[in-house]
Amino acid sequence: MAGVKLTNVRKSFGAHDVIKDVSLEVPKGEFGVFVGPSGCGKSTLLRMIAGLEDTSGGRIEIGGRDVTHVEPAKRGVAMVFQSYALYPHLSVAENMGFSLSLARVPKQQREEKVREAARILQLTDHLDKKPSALSGGQRQRVAIGRAIVREPEVFLFDEPLSNLDAELRVQMRLELTRLHRQIGATMIYVTHDQVEAMTLADDIFVLKGGHVMQAGRPLSLYDDPANRFVAGFIGSPA
Ligand code: ADP
Ligand code: MG
Repeated sequence: MAGVKLTNVRKSFGAHDVIKDVSLEVPKGEFGVFVGPSGCGKSTLLRMIAGLEDTSGGRIEIGGRDVTHVEPAKRGVAMVFQSYALYPHLSVAENMGFSLSLARVPKQQREEKVREAARILQLTDHLDKKPSALSGGQRQRVAIGRAIVREPEVFLFDEPLSNLDAELRVQMRLELTRLHRQIGATMIYVTHDQVEAMTLADDIFVLKGGHVMQAGRPLSLYDDPANRFVAGFIGSPA
């Protein structure tokens, strides 16, 4: 079954066609990566899946359900952003549980979910700290924790590691892979970084100018790029 399925999805801002007839499928439980140069429409596509942008055409399905016109909170998705603005005056635990408080989840249940997310993310010893007392990697994990507690069907990541230094990025990549294995949810990850795409993805979707140039397993794209753009971008010597 498709975790996320897009059919002929389009998006225009005024006269600017940003997403042009995108059809793709990320199988349930798989890790899909949208990769492409800056400005190719990755964030727009992700925001459309999240329901943060309207579609100009086409259909979006999550777990077999047509969500094209469903409000964001009812899509079963949680998004992790690049700039992970945490609330500085709240503790790690409060930051992670905040959306559950808004949703009026009872305190005990909330605390259980936060503890479980903290265990998965190895933040258990940091739950009472303020974000300012954490390292960059730990802060990013808190941002991921905020998504985990909501138990979404689909996780959406928009370049979550781009503010971190190179060493930490490598470490967080490994953690994301571990997280995916452990949780088993469908994940879609947006990046302009080819190495990130190759190491994280079950399936890669190479975007350029609002089109999917090629989709497939990382190695098949590497070994058999459909055109020069994909070859150059994925870095096969051709
Ligand atoms: P990426 O994430 O791949 O860098 P984006 O999806 O952010 O690309 O942007 C794709 C294109 O859409 C860019 O040309 C950008 O300027 C344009 N765009 C994005 N959001 C808006 C908006 N709200 N209004 C007008 N143009 C936008
Ligand atoms: Mg972007």
